[in-house]
Amino acid sequence: MKVRIRRELLEYLLQLARNAYPNEFAGFLREKDGIFEEVLIAPNPHAGPRSIFFDTWMLPYDESIKGTVHSHPSPAPWPSEGDLEFFSKFGGVHLIIAWPFTEDSVRAYSSDGVELPIEVVD
Ligand SMILES: [Zn+2]
Repeated sequence: MKVRIRRELLEYLLQLARNAYPNEFAGFLREKDGIFEEVLIAPNPHAGPRSIFFDTWMLPYDESIKGTVHSHPSPAPWPSEGDLEFFSKFGGVHLIIAWPFTEDSVRAYSSDGVELPIEVVD
C-alpha cells in the first residue's frame, strides 16, 4: 500500500506546519480517485505543542475523508502513543510532518502504525 498525495497539497501542508510552529496543526485529508487532494483543518485544536487534538466527534461526516495529517514541532516523525491510539480508532492513513517541515520530514502511517511509502503526484 502506498500513500498518493498531490504535490500542491503536500506543499500547502508543509506551509501550514511552518505557520503553526511551535504549535502543532492538524487536519483531515480528502481523497479523490485514490489521491489525497484536499485538507480540512481541524477547527479548534487544543492549544500547545505535543498535544493530541483530534476529537472524532468534531469530524464532519464525509466519505471522502480517508486520513489525517498533523505536525510535530520536533524532528521526530514517529507517532506518539496517543497518535497510535487515535490512528487505530480512526482507520485510514495518517501523515506526520516533523520539524523542519520539508518534504523529507513527512512520514505516512497505516492505522496500525506501520510506515507507508509516499508517492507525490504532480
Ligand atoms: Zn503526533
